[in-house]
Amino acid sequence: MAACQPATPAAALPTLASLPTALSRPPAATATATVTPAATATTTTTATTTVTVTPSATLTDTPPASAPLMATVMDTDTVTVTPAATATLLPEAFVFGQSVEGRDLTAYRFGSGPRLLLLVGGIHTGYETNTVGLLRALRDHYTARPDEVLPGVALVLVPALNPDGLLYGRALRGRFNAREVDLNRNWGCGWSAAAVFRDLPVNAGAAPFSEPETVALGALIQQLQPGAVLFYHAAARGVFPGNCGGTRSVALAQVYSAASGYPYQPDFAGYTVTGSAPNWVDSLGIPALDVELASAEDTELIRNLNAIRAVQAWLTATTP
Ligand SMILES: [Zn+2]
Repeated sequence: MAACQPATPAAALPTLASLPTALSRPPAATATATVTPAATATTTTTATTTVTVTPSATLTDTPPASAPLMATVMDTDTVTVTPAATATLLPEAFVFGQSVEGRDLTAYRFGSGPRLLLLVGGIHTGYETNTVGLLRALRDHYTARPDEVLPGVALVLVPALNPDGLLYGRALRGRFNAREVDLNRNWGCGWSAAAVFRDLPVNAGAAPFSEPETVALGALIQQLQPGAVLFYHAAARGVFPGNCGGTRSVALAQVYSAASGYPYQPDFAGYTVTGSAPNWVDSLGIPALDVELASAEDTELIRNLNAIRAVQAWLTATTP
């Protein structure tokens, strides 16, 4: 990540999200079952709202069957919802916003501890759609093995921040959202209208947080105050710390690198990345990084499971 100017204040979010909306995943025999978000001291307007949605209406990030690679990341709908643990304000599955085209931005929580680790896939889709596959594989893994979330930790997984881009399959167009904005150039530290991807000019949006996807995730991060945030990309093979005035992203990246085997990369070589997500998160004092998978095809599940376990242990050891 290119360092932003420390003197440049991080842009404020234009809006803040209310409590994430519970995503109802009713059993097959009870199509109208509902989930009510746990009450919270941070909101008074939506805490008692009961939302009823059907699985077919909520799982709108499912790509079209005609996209060849998509078959490998099809949502298998294996997550079931039980009442939220009292140690957390979050339901086990919830919607925290909508994309430009109105598709739900969905998150899944595992564990109920106060040390929260947020993982985000599909901020770029297109050729990086295997990151959505990885996040879905992680979701299925922790569903089957909840014991692999360490005591005192909670994981929140966002499989696809750019669900609209999934519709384009493995093509450059799929990197961008429905307004053709690059969602990793639209954040509030070091933002520039003159953004690039390699030597290609890309649309950074009209201003920081001009896109509903970045507003929704930024608001969620501000609300949750996670202990660390991991963003997944492909396929530059490396771990890149956020760099915008924070002090702990480098240590986080070194932990992830050592446990995963992806090389630690203190800066992104070759071209300047402006307005990136981990830089903005770092500006909040929350350690953050980009993980670049080694390939654009595989989920590379095992090495990332190892690294996520190491990060959980690091969070446990370094935060009260
Ligand atoms: Zn990317």
